[in-house]
Parts: sequence; C-alpha cells; structure tokens
Amino acid sequence: SDDEDLRPGNKFANGKRDFKKSGKISLHDIVMGDGEDDDEIGLRGANRRRSEASLKRFREKARAIFTAPAKVERTVTLGDTITVKDLAAAMAEKVGNVIKKLMEMGMMASQNQSIDADTAELIATEFGATVKRVDAKPYADQMERMPDPAKLQPRAPVVTVVGHVDHGKTSLLDAFRNANVVAGEAGGITQHVSSYEVKTKSGPMITFLDTPGHETFTAMRARGAQMADIVVLVVAANDSIMPQTVEAINHIRAANVPFIVAINKIDLPEANAQKVKLDLLQQEVQVEEMGGDVQAVEISATKKINLDKLEDAILLQAEMMELTADPEMPAVAHVVEAKMEKGLGAVATILVRQGTLKIGDVFVVGETFGRVRGLINSAGMRVKSVKPGQPVMVLGLDAVPNAGDELRVMETESQTREVAQYRMQKARDKANAVKRSSLEELFARRDDSKKLTLPIILRADVQGSVEAITDMLGEINSDKAGVEILSAGVGQITEGDIRLAAASHAVIIAFNVRADAAVRDMARGSNVDIRYHSVVYRITDEIKEILSGKLAPERRENFIGYADVIQLFTVGKGTRVAGCRMTEGTIKKDAFVRLLRNNVVIYDGKIGELRREKNEVKEVSGGVEFGMSFDKYNDLKEGDRVECYEVEEIKAKL
Ligand code: GDP
Repeated sequence: SDDEDLRPGNKFANGKRDFKKSGKISLHDIVMGDGEDDDEIGLRGANRRRSEASLKRFREKARAIFTAPAKVERTVTLGDTITVKDLAAAMAEKVGNVIKKLMEMGMMASQNQSIDADTAELIATEFGATVKRVDAKPYADQMERMPDPAKLQPRAPVVTVVGHVDHGKTSLLDAFRNANVVAGEAGGITQHVSSYEVKTKSGPMITFLDTPGHETFTAMRARGAQMADIVVLVVAANDSIMPQTVEAINHIRAANVPFIVAINKIDLPEANAQKVKLDLLQQEVQVEEMGGDVQAVEISATKKINLDKLEDAILLQAEMMELTADPEMPAVAHVVEAKMEKGLGAVATILVRQGTLKIGDVFVVGETFGRVRGLINSAGMRVKSVKPGQPVMVLGLDAVPNAGDELRVMETESQTREVAQYRMQKARDKANAVKRSSLEELFARRDDSKKLTLPIILRADVQGSVEAITDMLGEINSDKAGVEILSAGVGQITEGDIRLAAASHAVIIAFNVRADAAVRDMARGSNVDIRYHSVVYRITDEIKEILSGKLAPERRENFIGYADVIQLFTVGKGTRVAGCRMTEGTIKKDAFVRLLRNNVVIYDGKIGELRREKNEVKEVSGGVEFGMSFDKYNDLKEGDRVECYEVEEIKAKL
C-alpha cells in the first residue's frame, strides 16, 4: 500500500533505519522547497533517499496534507439543557469521552441524562467546539418587554418589615394598616390581601408587604424577585440587638437594599434607644446620629408614637431612589402570595411593577396562566385596574403560582398557555438534569475579567472560632479573588442559612457544627454546598483552592449514619460504653465517628468497639439498639449524638 511506500527503508533496503525505526513520515520530516513544482515539498534526512516514484506518491500525499481543510469547526447549539448523548453527537465526540470529562468535573451523568447549558458549554469548550447559546423561549419579545423611558412616572415604594421575633413587626404593620387603610365596605369581600397601600399624612403612597420577616424576603429573592425597595428593620428598645436582628442585617446586606431602623417600644420605661444605636455600631450599622447614613426613628407601634416620622423617613429614602415605572406598557407583576380559595379558585396577591393591570387581561405567571376575572384591592374593594407599585388580589388563575413568580400580560390566551407549558416542560427537564452545587454554579458564571468573590456563610461552635476564621478568611484577598462573609455566627446551620446561601450562591462553612436532617435535605434540594470542617487551617486552604479554580478537596466526608446515646455503662478498666439507638443510616466499625452534643462536635475519631447484643459486629443499621465505645475517649453523656462518616477521596475538580 501507499503507506508501506512511505516507510523509510521499506523500498530502500539499505539497512539504514536510522531516521526513525519505521512508521509513517511525519510532518516533522517535511521541508518546504523553493516553490518549483514538486520540489516545493521535500524531505529531511534519511527520507531524501527515495525513488522518484515513491517521492512522487509521497508528494501527492504531503500536498493533500498541506491543502486539506483544517479540522472542521464544530458548533454546538445550546438551549437550556442538553442530553449527554446529544452534546457528544453535536461535537462529533464519543459519548464515553464526554462522560469521562464530566466525571473529571465531579459530575456523574449517563448518556441519556441532561445537563444544564452552562456545564455543557464548559465541556464543549474543553473539546474545542464553538458554542452558540440559543434562547428557545417562546414570545421572548413579549416576555422581555421593557418600560419606555419616555413614559416613566413616579411610583409608590414597596416596603418590607424585618426584625427579631416579638420586636413588633406585626404590630407595626397593623398600626399602619389600621390607621390608614380605608376599611372594606360592609358586605365587601373580606379576602386577606397580603400587601397593602397606605396613604401617608404628607400625601404619597407607600406599599407594605404584609409578610414580615427576612426569611420570606430572602425566599423570594432566591426565586429572583427583589420585592422590596426599602426594608424597615424593627429593633425593640428594651431588648436591643438579638440574634435574628443580626441575621436580618445580613440578609439586607446580601440583598443590597437600603434600610431604615425603627427603634420600637420606646413607650416602655426600660426602653433604651441609645443602647440600640450603640449596639448597631457593633454590627457596622451606623445611624445618622452616630455619623452614618442609616436613618433611625424611635417609635411605638402600639402607642402609635412617631409613625408619621417613620413614614417620612421611608418617603425620603424613596425620593432618593427615584422609583419610577411605565404605566402604559402591558402589565408586569410579581406574586407576593398565592393560594386556593374556596369559591374563588386559585388567587394571588400580586404587586404590579410595570404597566396597568386590567380586568380581562390575559397573562402568564410562572408555570401557569390566566385571565383577570376580578381585582380586589387591600381595602377589600373590587377595582377595575391597578397601577405600578400597587398590590392587588387577582382572580382567574388556572393554578396556584409560587411566591416570587413573575406575571406578564400577553396578547392572546393561547400564547399564555403556550408559554406556561414551555416553562413547565423546562422545569421538568431541569428537575431531571444532573444537579450542580452552588459552588459549581458560581464557577460556571465566573467572568475572568472580574474579581471573583466567593460569598460565605460561616457557622461555628464558639465565638472564638467565628472570630479566628473570619480573620483568616479576611486575609484571603487579592485583585483576582476574595471572599465576602455574608453571615457569621455561633450555632448549628438553620433553614435561613440555606435560603440565604441559595439566594446568594454562597457556600456554607460549618466548623464543628452540623445541620439537622431537615436542613440537610433542604440544602440538598437547593444545591447548597455545605463544607464541614474541624481544623481551622483546612478551611483557608480549601477556600484558596476554590478561588484559584482548583476545586480540589482531597477529601470529602459522606455521612452514613446517626445514632443517639440513650444510656451509659462502664466496663473493664473504666471504658465507657454508650448504649445507642440508630436514628438514620448505618454505623460502620471501620468508618469515622464524631460525637455531637447539641450539634456541636466534641469528639472526632474512630470506634473502639461496636456490639449488637453480646456480639462484636462490623456494622449496625435500621433503627436498632446497640453498644459502642470510642477509641481513647470516655467523656460521654446521654443525649449525645453519634455521627458516622466515610471519607471519600476526590480527584481535582473543574
Ligand atoms: P413580631 O413578632 O415582631 O411580629 O412582634 P409583635 O408585633 O407580635 O409584637 C410582640 C409583642 O410586643 C406584642 O405583645 C405587642 O403587643 C408588643 N409590642 C409591639 N410593639 C410595641 C410597642 O411599641 N410598645 C409596647 N409596649 N409593646 C409593643
């Protein structure tokens, strides 16, 4: 064959295979000639010694190599998700290679599973393919309609109230509602509209979200809806800063929303507004009186003291923000709350953001749709239309949407149905797609031209650890990368932490603390990355690795079981044995164990002995009672929890 002809020495049996042992002539052997006919392509070294005929054949071949088109550029067209198989086909790659690449990135996916577009883009780039992202969204023109800058009009600010439990959030909302909202007419509709408008003493309107608490606020933000323009942080003057006050401040900061402090209960003899202001300084909140720019108003919600001053503070803040909307475009709104209502079907309290919503309008909202059959305002009265900034209850939905969903008025009913169906399908695809952690999300969205900031939520066992770790993390800061601590505190991980992490794509660092089963489930459900640690320097190492793009935790812990210590015995020379009951999973003799007291780690090590009834066993599982001792550790108490975990070695990711 031709190939044999090209092997040096095959035809020139001179015994000199000095150039290469054998094999085809490589591009390396080729030299370009002076451009005269066939001579333009010549050969180096031993390959020069060839017959004319073979040289001719070789030249033809070499020319083919030189003139062949470059490797075909593969373009992958990506919608929201793509199956591994389709991605491989689009790149003309073997499915196995794509699966392998995904595994290197820490993602297990079979060929029929779909992956999200960001991951697919990463993979495609790795294989040298060009990516074209397409927006297959139907009626994108209607879905992305923007307000007309020439038609902008001022609108009412939307305010939410947050603060520690019992500091007076509900009382404050009630005070505003009762003092200012026109009562519903007798026989009117007594539906509770979970947001209301207040006409202030000085004239302008304020809209209050009647869903107090930073949890709701952040839950909606996690769904992409920044509902409130301004937050009122209520702090009771007799209690000052409490844990949820701190939490609320963290949530406000993460959302980057302006806020006003309402120092409540100043009617109480023990009220100390000054202390509140000083304590706020500790949280780096500087009120105006302390030289900062945060407005603070001393009020009493129940005695109705200074409520007008609080209104003025809100209006002043709103004025600085120049809140406007275009009342003429087809309406855009957000769902505040939605439910099934007897006799009315699915109803939703919405907040109109743009345009004017009218009876008869057809709309899509989240994964459902509808036609406006009725509008009930916060005074319980039926109205014909609602303007931007106004809340209203809408009747006429096909199904119950989620809080935070966007509502958009469209041209025809069939369009609304089509968009809703498309979104439902997309949600289904997404549910089936292989999930990525919040950390992987962060990386997928990374823009190399900008500084990479890793948002962190830190929970530790004691204040000393919180401070030490915060300080150490603070030192990780360069032009390229840094961390932002959204929240740091003592105690176990809460559902609020997960919500905040999900909304901010943050990583939770748990130092010697744990999350209970419900919180762990929630974290899994919302793809929040919780990283458990018990050695301080490992945290900084890990964060540095994450930031340098080498997400390479050499070890990851997988929890395999939990048990409660229900009784204690002493055997032999003072070895304490714990009588335990399994609560979850399996305990294995060879795995690692931690002892947790109130979700705080007090021991980390190996099992001494594991016994079921009288026998030594390798593992126990399934709700049984058993006995165990710890390797060189005796300080046990009834009520302690045993956590059993295995350590998985993980290859470099991303
Ligand atoms: P929330 O948990 O933050 O919604 O707090 P609430 O509004 O339910 O108030 C908790 C308690 O504090 C209730 O018993 C209220 O009556 C009381 N409270 C609220 N505001 C004031 C106030 O300005 N002065 C006094 N003395 N009590 C108040």
